[in-house]
Amino acid sequence: MPADADLRRLVHFSAGDGRIWLAGHRMVLLHAEALSAFRRELMQTIGPLQTRRVLKRAGYAAGQRDAALARQVRPNASSWDQFSVGPQLHMLEGAVQVTPDECHFDVEAGTYHGRFRWDHSWEVETHVRTFGPQSEPVCWMLLGYASGYTTAFMGQQILYKEVQCAACGHDHCMIEGRPAKDWPDAEQIKEDYEEDSMLVRMEDLQAEIDSLRTSLQPSDDLGELIGRSKSFLHAIDLIRKAAATQVTVMLTGETGVGKERFARTLHKMSTRADKPFVAVNCAALPHELIESELFGAEKGAYTGAGSARPGRFERADGGTLFLDELGELPLAAQAKLLRVLQNGEVERLGSTAYRKVDVRVVAATNVDLEAAVAAGRFRRDLMYRLNVYPIAIPPLRERVEDIEPLAHHLLNKFMAQHNKRVAGLTDKALDAMRRYPWPGNVRELENLIERGLIVSSAGQMVDVGDLFAMPAGGPAAVTVSENGQLEQSLPSDMDSLFDDLQRRGISLDALEDCLIREAVSRAGGNLSAAARSLGMTRPQLSYRLQKINGK
Ligand SMILES: [Zn+2]
Repeated sequence: MPADADLRRLVHFSAGDGRIWLAGHRMVLLHAEALSAFRRELMQTIGPLQTRRVLKRAGYAAGQRDAALARQVRPNASSWDQFSVGPQLHMLEGAVQVTPDECHFDVEAGTYHGRFRWDHSWEVETHVRTFGPQSEPVCWMLLGYASGYTTAFMGQQILYKEVQCAACGHDHCMIEGRPAKDWPDAEQIKEDYEEDSMLVRMEDLQAEIDSLRTSLQPSDDLGELIGRSKSFLHAIDLIRKAAATQVTVMLTGETGVGKERFARTLHKMSTRADKPFVAVNCAALPHELIESELFGAEKGAYTGAGSARPGRFERADGGTLFLDELGELPLAAQAKLLRVLQNGEVERLGSTAYRKVDVRVVAATNVDLEAAVAAGRFRRDLMYRLNVYPIAIPPLRERVEDIEPLAHHLLNKFMAQHNKRVAGLTDKALDAMRRYPWPGNVRELENLIERGLIVSSAGQMVDVGDLFAMPAGGPAAVTVSENGQLEQSLPSDMDSLFDDLQRRGISLDALEDCLIREAVSRAGGNLSAAARSLGMTRPQLSYRLQKINGK
């Protein structure tokens, strides 16, 4: 197997914030003894058969995750070197020593046969210590890993058997893997990986109970509103209470927080749900058209009004009218709006007749209406009229725990929309998202996820560099600094710079000379400027230049 220096570099200890990373995946350094206690408890509570299945599937998931790294880490290597990432990571992770006995495969043709020798399996060590010598193999999690890894790597199901295990008195363990179709007893081996175990059945039953429970409850369609944070649930609670009444609602919040979605949800929860929901963006309509749009116009009411037409108020009759960016409404239209709210009647332009309308108004603004009133741009009486039931929609940075469920929901939505599948989001990507301040809120998250899906490779996981903007000249390495800020990081660039220098055999001295000469030449011989660009003083630079010239 090739050298594993590239894999070792993927491990980052971030002790300051309590995390360890393997590329984008969060890892945990665990006492083997703790894992051993966990295994013992599982054996005693759910029995050996279920324990075997649970651990095999846990190993399978780990193997799958590592397979996502194989081609990413060694993009140009031979297929054997790429495949070796799995066994090598398995060793690096401290699970077992792997020695290939024989291994032939052809991803294109779909053929695979592999035999590997295992020494020092942690599972043998712990199992035998607790339960004594065994008659059946016990390297369950390890075997699951091999199967998960190879299956994901080959793109077809590869099953492994442990043909001999050190727990049964052999000198070492030996495993053999083949495509499912090449094992006569494939069905039996597969059973361990199928989600039909007792635990899964219990889970299914629980899910069934949950769904029965929800179907018994009145329908409460939150649509695309997703969250479990306190501030989000508080806003939903206020929406739900408003929905049961006819109160005029004022939604406030930063741009991009999803005010229209909240308004739609309010509408769907209300008794008006089967009547129209009409949305108007006051900032998007030209001032001269806004009154006819809202209140309608009779034929000939203004130039271009060729026929009588109802306004949005009339079209929303019985339902809900959502007035977005209300602060942009011109003063003349504000006076008319106040009248509609007071009397429940609209007057079309060019008409003297009033028409009764039954509309619940939901207004939204991201500007401070108090300030607009003070500046004379908004009517105080209208503000009071609309501000009876204000609901503040929290910005995304105050809903950190909602980011992950939202991101997954959006990823699924865009995968369907773009007909492209990825394996999910890396822990590191999720972590960066939780720390990012989101000035553009949910809308920005939506854009980022869509972009991340598009730039990532199909079948791979969307990583932090796929999500956040790339600097010119290469993929971004984005990390989270000690104070929690997201920043471009150098380490991965440094890695490649270092590799490059090594490959070219450039020494530190030669590199320094070269940097100094280049800086001086780019500064046109201006030593002060060259020194600044190198972050040193002019005397320091002169001294080094003398040394170089003296060589
Ligand atoms: Zn074994």
